[in-house]
Amino acid sequence: METTTQLHKFELLKTHFGYDKFLPNQEEIINNVLDQKDTIAIMPTGGGKSLCFQLPALALKGTAIVISPLIALMKDQVDALKANGISAAFFNSSQPSEEQQEVLKNLQNGKLKLLYVAPESLPQLNFILNSIEISLFAVDEAHCISSWGHDFRPAYTQLKRLKEQFPSVPLIALTATADRPTREDIAAQLAIPNAKTFIASFDRPNLYLDVRPGQNRNKQILNFLAKRGKQSGIIYCLSRKSTEKLAATLKSKGYVAEAYHAGLTSEERSTIQDNFVNDRTPIIVATIAFGMGIDKSNVRWVIHYNMPKNIEGYYQEIGRSGRDGLASHTILFYSFADVVMLRKFAEGTETEAYQLAKLERMQQFAEALSCRRKALLGYFGEHITEDCGNCDICKTPPKYFDGTLIAQKVCSAVARLREQEALGMVLDVLRGSQNAQVYDKGYQNIKTFGAAKDISWRNLQQYVIQLLNQGVLQIYFHENGRLLLTPLAKKVLYEGKKVRLANIVQDVETVKTEKAS
Ligand code: ADP
Ligand code: ZN
Repeated sequence: METTTQLHKFELLKTHFGYDKFLPNQEEIINNVLDQKDTIAIMPTGGGKSLCFQLPALALKGTAIVISPLIALMKDQVDALKANGISAAFFNSSQPSEEQQEVLKNLQNGKLKLLYVAPESLPQLNFILNSIEISLFAVDEAHCISSWGHDFRPAYTQLKRLKEQFPSVPLIALTATADRPTREDIAAQLAIPNAKTFIASFDRPNLYLDVRPGQNRNKQILNFLAKRGKQSGIIYCLSRKSTEKLAATLKSKGYVAEAYHAGLTSEERSTIQDNFVNDRTPIIVATIAFGMGIDKSNVRWVIHYNMPKNIEGYYQEIGRSGRDGLASHTILFYSFADVVMLRKFAEGTETEAYQLAKLERMQQFAEALSCRRKALLGYFGEHITEDCGNCDICKTPPKYFDGTLIAQKVCSAVARLREQEALGMVLDVLRGSQNAQVYDKGYQNIKTFGAAKDISWRNLQQYVIQLLNQGVLQIYFHENGRLLLTPLAKKVLYEGKKVRLANIVQDVETVKTEKAS
């Protein structure tokens, strides 16, 4: 039995998708779904989430119902499936009603292996769903269920009914957002408390992570390129104008480079992309729009001329290098002027506080005094214990001191505040601040109140940020940025795990940061 399913699985992988082997975690996830069990799959973007429900949809009897918030992408996904000989359709409010009727008829007659549906349109299918055989439910972009996130979709909260109505149909929830509260929210709201959770590693060990001060960027870039021959690379800038200026500078120095941004015509853009993919133009200076749909495995370096607005964006953009697994170099230029500009972009938007919190976390990453990879992976909820040895900090570490006791005090305060408070309050409590907010909540009575009163506010703030970067603490962005303990924090508190901290050399830029915030 086991072996025939196994055989069948690989056969489907080959014949319908054209692949010989699974990407990390795909097979384990698929096995769980094929066993009819509920599943939560967390994978980075590009990790191959779709296959995790598409392949079981083919292997199991009945129709798979895929709930996806991205109406704009449904057609593409369905077209791709059809091109692989898979009977699939989508159903949403953007369709003409004749087309909707046709889909409903095919659904009713069991002709579809997969149906993509927008959560808002799901109630319209209710009647038919009760009368047909359903192989599985897949909830894509499942973090949209979290009411605090910027991606929140009210219709997602209705999805709780799926499990009530169809208790025996396996449900798989997929997302690239891995923080623990979001995961717990997904399991609770979809009513799948016993779902098995699979978290694929976000690590890309072949990427060297390098963060540098943003002074004399052009000179630094030219020095970097001088040793790079004709290697392919992408430089990301914030504005169209700077892509053009920088591309011109590079050309004047004899490099083959093109600017790429939304101001070009679509023909111009596709020519530039084509020249890049086929190694005719090795260097692209682009706004973030570049690279989304590009499958180029030998991009050897990525430079951020300006700081990205959040860590998700940074991760995605550096991830466009080194897809072939070979060593690749990434550089992030960090300047306070960029922070100011990015703040302006966020101000006045509907999700201002959320965006500013994410920006601040990006800035903290750029200012990290410990292994960058630890910080990056910790952000995505993955906690490595060893330093990577392949980042600028690992290469030239600052002077550390034993910060174990400080770390224990901070973790203990976060625990006693029941992980409900953000950085500012945690600092107040640790420093024993006599202010109204502290007294209102009665925090002057908890045991760690004033436990770090001998440390200055500024230093203590720095230490807590270092604990964030070391993956000991995590921020929950969806609720006022409260601080959470990670599995590493438990090691610090209960298993005597040592923590190193460093004292930041105060420079002009960070002083400005403090005043502005
Ligand atoms: P995600 O939804 O996680 O961002 P996708 O499902 O879009 O990722 O897959 C990302 C890319 O990986 C796609 O180009 C897909 O065709 C490819 N892919 C998926 N599974 C495999 C596999 N087993 N082997 C090789 N490539 C794969
Ligand atoms: Zn490192």
